[in-house]
Amino acid sequence: MEQQFEQQIDRATAHFRALLETQLARQIRMESGERAKDFSKLATVRIGICGGDGIGPILTREARRVLNALLADEIASGRIELREIEGLTIENRLARGEAVPADTLDAIKACDVLLKGPTTTPKGGTMESANVALRRELDLYANVRPVSVPEEGIDWIFYRENTEGEYVLGSQGIEIPGKLAMDFKVTTDAGTRRIARAAFEYARQNGKTRVAIVTKANIMKKTDGNFSGICHEVAADYPEIEAEDWYIDIMTANLVNPAIRNRFQVFLLPNLYGDIITDEAAQIQGGVGTAGSANIGDRYAMFEAIHGSAPRMIEEGLGEYANPSSLFKAVEMMLRHISRTKQADLLAHAMRICTEEECRVTVTGDRSGATCTAFADYVLETIRKISS
Ligand code: NAD
Repeated sequence: MEQQFEQQIDRATAHFRALLETQLARQIRMESGERAKDFSKLATVRIGICGGDGIGPILTREARRVLNALLADEIASGRIELREIEGLTIENRLARGEAVPADTLDAIKACDVLLKGPTTTPKGGTMESANVALRRELDLYANVRPVSVPEEGIDWIFYRENTEGEYVLGSQGIEIPGKLAMDFKVTTDAGTRRIARAAFEYARQNGKTRVAIVTKANIMKKTDGNFSGICHEVAADYPEIEAEDWYIDIMTANLVNPAIRNRFQVFLLPNLYGDIITDEAAQIQGGVGTAGSANIGDRYAMFEAIHGSAPRMIEEGLGEYANPSSLFKAVEMMLRHISRTKQADLLAHAMRICTEEECRVTVTGDRSGATCTAFADYVLETIRKISS
């Protein structure tokens, strides 16, 4: 081996050793566990609202109006506090050289839950995605994404592992420039066990009879192989629920096969497959602008749309025409998470009327449809109507 490569291999091996040590330490920390927060017992629930980039501030502005309407009494009495959190813009993150600037992270950690607009991640370079950083820093291990198409009998919920897989070391791969590049995928025992537990608990509590464990364990034998094996160990505690194994490639096809797709109920997946397939599922529901997402940990939780910051919409002057439904669905999930079930049901009911039953105001993402504000007005008016 040429000497220049020997040196690079030595550096890479040292780098790899350091990665193994930090990942092992993370696994050991996780094993000690933490108890989930009981929101019904908090004197004040602090909801942070972060605009993010692109269409993010437009969507969060409208979501805030919905929250103000639904939680008016509790905001007035101080049981709920809405806090605007600045600093998660791409300009600030680049200027500070931090995926989530330290003071912004402190402000987020001072809240109980976070409603977040999408954040832009630069292609290439070393700037980590703000989302990946937040999921790691707040230990938001369960990414939960519901998708429903009632007329087709589709009622899916995705439990995507949110802190490991290809993402946890996504900015720490190894490269021998001009020769090769290597990224790492990490599956820990504790990390898999807790997402599996969350999915099976959801299934049990919601009367679901099947959980589909989706991997590529035939190829990724260590990481996906362990993921599948541990999920089955957890499944043994839920004998009333059938745990099925599927490979991600055929599952991607299944979702566009109307003959069988409505048989699926709960999906349990490692990070990358979950990321990809939930966009496909959202498209089946009506587009990425229609789907909300919850990132849940034992201590914190973050709620957002599944789509990104749509920079092209901003460039074309179409930001105000963005669909806020995705973020409104995230608001609904957030309200359920903080035990505001009545308000969540009210918003869900209003959204059903506005997007499925009555559809008097529709958003198309361009000038052929209504603006984000006009749609929010419609939802607010519907909330008032059905609650009076
Ligand atoms: P995108 O989701 O921003 O856009 C994909 C397509 O969907 C575009 O055509 C866009 O116009 C459309 N779209 C998205 N949201 C819409 C809405 N509410 N209403 C109507 N149309 C909508 O995907 P992208 O272009 O791949 O990503 C843009 C940036 O967002 C990237 O920097 C990416 O890293 C980031 N991103 C952030 C998050 C997040 O913060 N959770 C998620 C995904 C992507």
